[in-house]
This record gives sequence, C-alpha cells and structure tokens, in this order.
Amino acid sequence: MAPRFFVGGNFKMNGTQTFLRNLIDNLNAGQLDENAEVVIAPPALYLDQCRKQARKEIGVAAQNAFNASSGAYTGEISPEQLKDLGIEWVILGHSERREIFKESDEFVAAKVAFALKSGIKVIACIGEKLNERESGQTFEVVTRQLQAIAKEINDWTNVVIAYEPVWAIGTGKVATPQQAQEVHEYIRKWLRENVSEATAEQTRIIYGGSVNASNAAELAKQKDVDGFLVGGASLKPEFVNIVNARI
Ligand code: PGA
Repeated sequence: MAPRFFVGGNFKMNGTQTFLRNLIDNLNAGQLDENAEVVIAPPALYLDQCRKQARKEIGVAAQNAFNASSGAYTGEISPEQLKDLGIEWVILGHSERREIFKESDEFVAAKVAFALKSGIKVIACIGEKLNERESGQTFEVVTRQLQAIAKEINDWTNVVIAYEPVWAIGTGKVATPQQAQEVHEYIRKWLRENVSEATAEQTRIIYGGSVNASNAAELAKQKDVDGFLVGGASLKPEFVNIVNARI
C-alpha cells in the first residue's frame, strides 16, 4: 500500500498570535484532502496556541528539539515538553539549523533518536547545497546525512524524510519534478539496501523547496514523492491547495 500523502507547513520564525489565529482559522475552514496527513510547524512560542486552535486531524510540529528531557540547556526545548503540550511531531536537521546554527550530521541524528525514543515523530530534513549539486555530490551528501541517522535508529516507522535541496529553499527555484524524483528514488533505494524493504516501501519521502500551489500537482505525480514540506507558501491561503495537490 502506498504511504499516506504528507504535507507539512514550516512557518519558520514567522507570525504573531493574531496572524497565526487567522491562518489556522483558514485551515480549519478549508476542505482538506482526507487522504493527506497535514502537519503545521509554528514557532515554539506559539505551539500551544496553535495546538489548541487547529482541528485535531491537523498535526502540530516543533521546528527543533534538544536531545535531553530537561536540564541546564538555556534556550532549548525538550521532546518531553512537546508531549506535555500535545505536540506530536518535530522537524529536525532543517538546512537552516545545519547552516546557520552549525548542527552537524551527528547532532541531528542524536536528536532524531532522542525524539523518537521520547515518543515524538520526526520530519528529518536532508539535502545538498548548490555547489554540492554542481560538483555532482548530491547522492554522496544525502547518503552521508542518512547514514548518520541510520547509525542511531533502527525503526523508521515514525520518521518522514524531507528531501530539501538547499538551493531550492526560499529561492523560488524549485527542483524540477525529474530532479526531485531522481533523488527520492535514490533515497528509497538506499533505505531498501541499508534498512529494509518494508522501511523503503512505507517511509514517506517528501520534497521541500519553493513548493507552491502552481508546482505542487506536477511534483506530486512523481512516483517517489510522497508529499511536501512547505515554507513560504504555508503562510498563505494557497497552502490548502498544496494539501489538495493530489485531488
Ligand atoms: P520554502 O521552504 O518552501 O520557503 O522554499 C521550504 C523549507 O524550508 O522547508
């Protein structure tokens, strides 16, 4: 059975209480494809507000979490605290965390393992930078990022893999459906050969990078594209159209 289509909205460091209230009102009122799993990721400050307001079918994700349950980690939030608020998901390894906050493959992998162990589902982001693509290293980079995670976890049931080429994030330069499919197919093959056949079949591999209402349908037709992680367009009414890309 094909895995359930998954659409995440990564709000990044955007929004105010009022803006998010309006955005979620719109989502709650929208006709969303029942076969799609929808998860929104507001800034940490607004997780509680958004979890309380969003329809229960809509999942809520943090944009990061640390790999400890509590303690002297100024500025961090823990998977335990997410659970306390009824938050089901966390995005880990986003390229902005890797680049701006210097998160290594190993650190991301440790956080993935800890979140899963704590009972939080993970959207794990991987993807190459422009110079890496141009020098033919795309597969090498995603392999390295996957291997780091595979070293720490055996069970991928509660993991969604987001392939997000860094050159396509926030740039308006979307990967072509063929470029996305090529890497998604590679990731699935990697899972088949390095984890298991079942993991390869069941793990959602979603695409992120300048997805909008105009390009989503074509990308969604690709065999190995199981959904999207949407940044900029998730802050707009068109997010509903992206959720409905398959209908
Ligand atoms: P974008 O961001 O849709 O604004 O390109 C995607 C992401 O960073 O997840």
